[in-house]
Amino acid sequence: MGGFSSRRTWKVCAICGSSDVTFARTASGWLAAQSYMCKDCGYVGPLVVEIDSMEEKERMQRRYRRLAKKGVFK
Ligand SMILES: [Zn+2]
Repeated sequence: MGGFSSRRTWKVCAICGSSDVTFARTASGWLAAQSYMCKDCGYVGPLVVEIDSMEEKERMQRRYRRLAKKGVFK
């Protein structure tokens, strides 16, 4: 009992670090397998990162903002 099962993890967008990701849906409304949609940066695809701390998420978001400022994601 206990141990690893109690550890909380989050799935966050691999691009911007947002935890506001949902499963993407196909045009016909079905859930698209292995595909996620990020509500913050608009990314759609299979890349999400599983993290286990909020610090990691903040680190990703800082990195994204830095890159976004340079116009990398235009
Ligand atoms: Zn995103």
